[in-house]
Amino acid sequence: MRLLTSVVVAAAAVVLADAVVAQPQDAVSARAKALHDRAIVVDTHDDTTQRFIWEKNFNIAVRNKDGNIDIPRMRDGGMDAIFFSIWMSGDVTGPTAVKQALDQIDAVREVVRTHPNDFMLATSAADIRKAAAAHKIAALMGMEGGHMIDDDLGMLRVYAALGVRYLTLTHSLNTHWADSSGEKGVHDGLTPFGKDVVRELNRLGMMVDISHVSDKTFFDALETTKAPMIASHSSARAISNAPRNMTDDMLRAMTKNGGVVMINYNAGFLSEEFRAAPRSAEFRAQEDAIAKRCGKDEACDIKATEQLNQAAMRNGQLPTVSWEKIVEHIDHVVKIAGVDHVGLGSDFDGATMPIGMEDVSKLPKITDALLKKGYSEADIEKILGGNILRVMEQVERAASR
Ligand SMILES: [Zn+2]
Repeated sequence: MRLLTSVVVAAAAVVLADAVVAQPQDAVSARAKALHDRAIVVDTHDDTTQRFIWEKNFNIAVRNKDGNIDIPRMRDGGMDAIFFSIWMSGDVTGPTAVKQALDQIDAVREVVRTHPNDFMLATSAADIRKAAAAHKIAALMGMEGGHMIDDDLGMLRVYAALGVRYLTLTHSLNTHWADSSGEKGVHDGLTPFGKDVVRELNRLGMMVDISHVSDKTFFDALETTKAPMIASHSSARAISNAPRNMTDDMLRAMTKNGGVVMINYNAGFLSEEFRAAPRSAEFRAQEDAIAKRCGKDEACDIKATEQLNQAAMRNGQLPTVSWEKIVEHIDHVVKIAGVDHVGLGSDFDGATMPIGMEDVSKLPKITDALLKKGYSEADIEKILGGNILRVMEQVERAASR
């Protein structure tokens, strides 16, 4: 009887959980759903890799209550291709950074290998199309920070051989050869070796990613590259003045370059009100407590910080950022750079998501909102994935391997 009761309670909890997931405000039109299902939806930046490293019990095959990404929710959200980020803080350098990068590459490849019915390792646009045709999720890798090559083009070639398909030139700290947007510059952009890195990326058919870099590094990379570049997870500075968002001048330069700007959903990059709002001493103390409790465990830090920020948005301590801001940024980039130069780079599992985009299952709302704004189905398909597939094909064609 006791068992039966607990089964009934568990069943009721499942019903309740479903009711919570399927909120009326998450409903999308049948036309949006059909379009979203038909499109190849590509996301160029997800930090779920940190969970593979730090959470021994994390199971990507089940519906998790925390985090933004797992297979069931990717299926719900119609995400067809995901770039798992290879990342560690820029103050990890030298052989330690190389070892940690290799560990993360191995972790992604192991997740793919052990979930063959859902994932397919992809290293090209053609692979992504092949995976979509087989109803599998294409798993790709992007490396977030030039510090991981340890000032060695040979390491870059090794990463390329292991399947990494873009290099973000810096994370939030300067490397020995490129300035970041996260601190005061020391190189006036890219050094001569930094320009060699860009040329080697071109030769290898890897995408040059300019998210996180300083404005001068951006323009140096633009002048050096022979192939279109990407911003794997950046938004528009005209809307939120974060230094690692892109100015309108940079957006126009991306049009000329043929590249694509993948919009980041991080609340602070979407909303100036949220970014600039003063944080109370109590809030700062909570942030410090998280940093202390989590230590080096990045997955712990990212998740706890997101929970703290979302709670602060919900209780009025911080301005609320709605998921609709994502669409505002897409629309801005379309107006300045054109509809061929924008896509999706969520930063899921690496940032504070806005209210209404708590996880990947909510993605079809973006398609629905773009239809309501009057975007054509063909243009929406480009934004969801067509643009980045085109850039990947151009980068691959420009390579000389
Ligand atoms: Zn980032």
